[in-house]
Amino acid sequence: MSHLRATAARGLRRSGGRGALRRKGASPRGAAPAPAPAPPPSRHLFSDPAEIEALRGHLLAWYDKCKRDLPWRTLAATELDADRRAYAVWVSEIMLQQTQVATVIDYYNRWMQKWPTLQALAQASLEEVNELWAGLGYYSRGKRLQEAARKVVSELAGQMPRTAEDLQKLLPGVGRYTAGAIASISYGQATGVVDGNVIRVLCRMRCIGADSSSPAVVERLWDMANALVDRSRPGDFNQALMELGATVCVPKAPLCGECPLKQHCQAQRRVEKELAFASQKLFGKRAPVSDVEDCGLLAGLWEFPSLPLAQGLQEEKQREVLADHLQAWTGRPVAAGGLRFIGEVVHIFSHIHQTYVVYSLSLDGDVTLDPALSPSRWVTEEEFHASAVSTAMKKVLKAHEKQRGEESSPGKGSKRKRGAKLQGANSTCPGTQLSLRAFLRAPKSP
Ligand code: SF4
Repeated sequence: MSHLRATAARGLRRSGGRGALRRKGASPRGAAPAPAPAPPPSRHLFSDPAEIEALRGHLLAWYDKCKRDLPWRTLAATELDADRRAYAVWVSEIMLQQTQVATVIDYYNRWMQKWPTLQALAQASLEEVNELWAGLGYYSRGKRLQEAARKVVSELAGQMPRTAEDLQKLLPGVGRYTAGAIASISYGQATGVVDGNVIRVLCRMRCIGADSSSPAVVERLWDMANALVDRSRPGDFNQALMELGATVCVPKAPLCGECPLKQHCQAQRRVEKELAFASQKLFGKRAPVSDVEDCGLLAGLWEFPSLPLAQGLQEEKQREVLADHLQAWTGRPVAAGGLRFIGEVVHIFSHIHQTYVVYSLSLDGDVTLDPALSPSRWVTEEEFHASAVSTAMKKVLKAHEKQRGEESSPGKGSKRKRGAKLQGANSTCPGTQLSLRAFLRAPKSP
């Protein structure tokens, strides 16, 4: 017997299954080795040169008009000496790590007044540095800054490295982001930067729902930032993108109406579609549910078989459409009554809340998946965790495990109420929780 887990994503598209994974845009079958994830579709990238050009123009025009007046920006714009300029930017970037802009301004002004050059800082005592830094927190930042200044003076003849690569390589405490910021703002090197604000803005603009803390996604975002950065004003462009994230595209309740990039933003487009859908529904018209596959580097990732659900669909109808979907997918009859409700799992992609309605289905005998119908394959537990799957799919699997654990624990009720959200579904299951191996079908031997 094998189990299939299926998910129906309410309002947005996504799926889950038990033991079976599918991938959009490919055609696996059986226990074939996991192929590399397919490249994401163009909507998750910036691939149109005309759009990139327009985006740069819109962002820079907004920045010129709305940017905050900050002392390090004034210095970067007016200081003629490249080393002094780079030093001024460097100090600001170190101070801004883990500290709010409003707090940093006064410290920055006093620091630059006291030590306007690398040489001046190199001659200061650690006591003086700590004294000025007092109240800013994370004291090792000031100490590291001074040590690095001493290194530039003693080992690099007082000249700051001139590229992001060299800054990162030669200066202690300077990472990829800080190196990119110094090089683009001080020297005009056309290199992007990725910090928390940039991640949020880019993920929203391209509807990237994959885990933005994963190294693979962060690497893609660096590629994106490098491709987008304006070639003639890279420093301003980078500061503008960060400024947008700090003041407009804020974590909660972004001010999309005021956003200079709204016409380039897939998340904003999606919200408009949802509103249009809601409005059409209000007037009794049916409209297609928008597709959350649009919401990811998710495209190219493996998922359980799934389909989008219209808002407000009754359980009976949910089962019917899901059974039809799985019937087409497995090529064998699937009774709606055979679907077992697991629960609802909520996942937040960037700024989109998605609810997965999760069902499982037990299948007798071997089920061979038709690669012509769908890119799909059976996986073991190990293969699941080793595959390119989204965080949402991991939550779906945990929801299933949790239910199995509850069912197998004496005294625990096995029925889960509909509507009960398994937010994150990350609690550990008590008792004799069954392992995935108990219900995932083992791959056939070659
Ligand atoms: S339109 Fe809204 S979500 Fe999109 S980038 Fe602008 S503020 Fe962010």
